[in-house]
Amino acid sequence: MATSVKLSTGAQMPIVGLGTWKSPPGKVTEAVKAAISAGYRHIDGAYIYQNEVEVGEGIAAMIKDGVVKREELFIVSKLWCTFHAKSMVREACEKTLSDLKLDYLDLYLVHWPMGLKAGSDLFPTDSAGDTIPDHSNFLETWEGMEELLDAGLVKAIGISNFNRDQIESLLNKPGLKYKPANIQVECHPFLTQEKLISYCNSKGISVTAYSPLGSPDRPWAKPDDPSLLEHPDIKAIAAKYKKTTAQVLIRFHIQRNVVVIPKSITPHRIQENFQVFDFQLSDEDMKTILGFNRNWRVCPFLMNKKHKDYPFHAEF
Ligand code: NAP
Repeated sequence: MATSVKLSTGAQMPIVGLGTWKSPPGKVTEAVKAAISAGYRHIDGAYIYQNEVEVGEGIAAMIKDGVVKREELFIVSKLWCTFHAKSMVREACEKTLSDLKLDYLDLYLVHWPMGLKAGSDLFPTDSAGDTIPDHSNFLETWEGMEELLDAGLVKAIGISNFNRDQIESLLNKPGLKYKPANIQVECHPFLTQEKLISYCNSKGISVTAYSPLGSPDRPWAKPDDPSLLEHPDIKAIAAKYKKTTAQVLIRFHIQRNVVVIPKSITPHRIQENFQVFDFQLSDEDMKTILGFNRNWRVCPFLMNKKHKDYPFHAEF
């Protein structure tokens, strides 16, 4: 079973990466080191996670100790919404590079299609609690991303949380220089994304699944929300393979050729989440898991629901 996915750029993207959203700055350096020691070569980060300095410390330590070389790693970051003006894209990327102590990223994603008012407030909101848009649109943001590729600051560019129509308008953009190499979207058995994945595959855009375990540590979790890790039928499938529920939830993506980025700051879970290359879910179990879909989102980012570019009013 392949341990990486080939991008349209020709690069190989390791199919399992370490997520870092909500990983506290005081913990993430050790998490990154534990992941690289366990065999991970892909780290998923973002400016908005506010921990890129500490992620970078973990990467630097492992390179310094000779555990890994920079070129063996695949480092991903994301452009935050308040930097969508074309003229701001480069400074945002340079800040991330300097925080990570790197001179290039393997993949840089537009984190969300919505541009928000520029400034020091990363979540600018009005008195009703809705975000305040900027005057950009994501087609112009994309031109800034293309410039990063030409300047050698990043090896590949992509998008995140775009819906089908938004992807299509990007692909049809007059003068498009580079297609997105990857799209990162929420995906797990409660949001199986069959239509979006099949559309992206047809366009040569690789897919990364975020919140693969259902993001139990998301700040807005409610006690009655559905739980993937506690789902009795997924637990039963895991028992059959003598694997953990988390391992089945991760393996589910690998068998769809979808990159997957479970987050953990717990060393034994970081290791566990990488022990997913020694078993194979049967076609029948894959079908059963796909049947759990209920179009339920961990990250609806509802404070943007009135934004012209909010992606989740569409079916997919
Ligand atoms: P997730 O990976 O679905 O779940 C993380 C949670 O699961 C943490 O509470 C973690 O606990 C726990 N966990 C990890 N491994 C476990 C295991 N083996 N057994 C039991 N519990 C386990 O959630 P996520 O952080 O939302 O998503 C993963 C990554 O995707 C993010 O970190 C981020 O890099 C990316 N992401 C991107 C976007 C986007 O807009 N592009 C949005 C959301 C997420 P401990 O850490 O305490 O071990």
